[in-house]
Amino acid sequence: DAGGGYGGGSLEEVRVPDIGDFSDVPIIEVLVRAGDTIRAEDPLITVESDKASMDVPAPKAGKVRDVLVSVGDKVSKGSAILMLEAEGTSHASQPAPAQGAGEKAAAPAPQAATHSGGADIECEVLVLGAGPGGYSAAFRSADLGMKTVLVERYATLGGVCLNVGCIPSKALLHVAAVTDSANDMAEHGIAFGKPKIDLDKLRGWKEKVVGKLTGGLAGMAKARKVDVVRGVGTFLDPHHLEVALTTGDGKEQSGDKQVIKFGKCIIAAGSQSVKLPFIPDDPRVVDSTGALELTNIPKRMLVIGGGIIGLEMATVYSSLGTRIDVVEMLDGLMTGADRDLVKVWEKVNKPRFESVMLKTRTTEVKAQKNGLKVSFEGDNAPAEPQTYDMILQSVGRTPNGKKLGAENAGVAVDERGFIATDKQMRTNVGHIFAIGDIIGQPMLAHKAVHEAHVAAEAAAGQKSFFDARQIPSVAYTDPEVAWAGKTEEQCKAEGIKYGKAVFPWAASGRAIANGRDEGFTKVIFDEQTHRIIGGAIVGTQAGDLISELCLAIEMGCDPTDIGKTIHPHPTLGESVGMAAEMFEGVCTDLPPQKKR
Ligand code: FAD
Repeated sequence: DAGGGYGGGSLEEVRVPDIGDFSDVPIIEVLVRAGDTIRAEDPLITVESDKASMDVPAPKAGKVRDVLVSVGDKVSKGSAILMLEAEGTSHASQPAPAQGAGEKAAAPAPQAATHSGGADIECEVLVLGAGPGGYSAAFRSADLGMKTVLVERYATLGGVCLNVGCIPSKALLHVAAVTDSANDMAEHGIAFGKPKIDLDKLRGWKEKVVGKLTGGLAGMAKARKVDVVRGVGTFLDPHHLEVALTTGDGKEQSGDKQVIKFGKCIIAAGSQSVKLPFIPDDPRVVDSTGALELTNIPKRMLVIGGGIIGLEMATVYSSLGTRIDVVEMLDGLMTGADRDLVKVWEKVNKPRFESVMLKTRTTEVKAQKNGLKVSFEGDNAPAEPQTYDMILQSVGRTPNGKKLGAENAGVAVDERGFIATDKQMRTNVGHIFAIGDIIGQPMLAHKAVHEAHVAAEAAAGQKSFFDARQIPSVAYTDPEVAWAGKTEEQCKAEGIKYGKAVFPWAASGRAIANGRDEGFTKVIFDEQTHRIIGGAIVGTQAGDLISELCLAIEMGCDPTDIGKTIHPHPTLGESVGMAAEMFEGVCTDLPPQKKR
């Protein structure tokens, strides 16, 4: 019974209570084991600080399901100790609020409901949502031997990322990059004709890419015996989910319902685009999903929001021939990235845009026959309203937390719709986990996948924690912009004494041979520990190149580890080794430097 007990007594997480001035104290003894029956006040663990040792008592009687700590672990107030099948508790018990990942204050825990009816399906683990978080959680859960059901409203698995996000956008960005490169070849002596665009064929190719991947997921679900139930899920109580079955592409409900009874649940219901309230309902106004549908190539397009998604779509459309304006309320594009990286991107992309309006906002959009008439306000607002054939709204994404009936399960959802979790991805209800976009920033597929593995492993009783030193960000624009770990801006804000080296691609043989030497590779070291804490790259393929820096940060490499690693020549990847050598003042591919 790996994760069973579904429908049994309620499983609660026992945490370290307020133990005075202690924090990060080591456990010197674990006094209980899984399977033990304990009474209230029985000692569970002994911790020792430099002043005293003390026992942490059980808050109530019950059976220990799972011990989450071991000798040597360091704990503080709120750290999870064990899972307890509490005696005499009901589904309606009030769970403790979970301390959210990055959230300031935990949302209040609602009173859970009680479902008195039966169930059509029973499982050990139910995963709600089949995006990169959901399918990864379901597959890992099944691989760990737990009977797993995956609930998804749409016809295909893969969520936003595979269907209307990462993958289709990259398929189109690939086409854009090749088209632009073909144009650039004229300067090197090879001229091609003007590209002929067959939009239906291009769309078809993008759909084929998506289909290949989503079809692959369906096959893998089957091979693992993960039952996929297609419909919209709503919690009935902490152990039951009702699914309103859907047909077709998933938008129509068939009217049939199924109730699933689960032992544990992993919520992976993702996020959706934010809609600006003053923008009219008009087919010429699209979000990223609409833009990826590629119904036409507008002559003139306004991109509202200068974040990664907006700029990636702007790149695609401009390469297809659209004239683009970008409007952004903040004083810079691609917030989160250090400004030196963005400057390089801006210089290369200047000809791509008619106007980039920073510190400016859209105040009104009028849908007219001849186009969408937009008024602006702010530092760079044009004097007259402008008319566009298409508007892309890309002002951020909002989590789907408020649409799940989570309150019936007693799961706390904050005002914005985020669900807070601890490092094991548990919500305030011990047997319900949450992962991916729905738990907070950064909303990225690779973060969702790693959280998914932790959640499934924790659900199976393993001591997995999400404890990443870095989560990389990449803008797949041209050039690409990628960063991992601490940025310089973060180091400054956090008062970290750091040193950096910036290797210019103008000194990279490969970048010069590629005709693309505008980029650079930056490494950031902690001056105290001498270990790498951050890195960033702007240039072609920066998104692939950043992985070496991700690994170096996770492994706590110092500059010698990176600089003395033999990189193949001539590659763009060499720039990582050279940046590290530069930090030490020993790079021979640059003019003489000051040795550290
Ligand atoms: P989602 O992918 O949002 O999946 C959630 C799933 O849950 C959906 O399939 C939804 O239908 C389902 N669902 C929700 N509620 C219910 C319910 N009640 N019942 C049944 N099913 C439900 N990230 C990157 O890392 N790299 C990129 O290059 C990248 N590019 C992007 C480009 C675009 C245009 C967009 C929009 C996003 C991009 N992202 C990228 C972000 C990435 O797509 C998300 O971070 C990722 O999909 C989040 O995964 P998730 O599993 O949390 O949720």
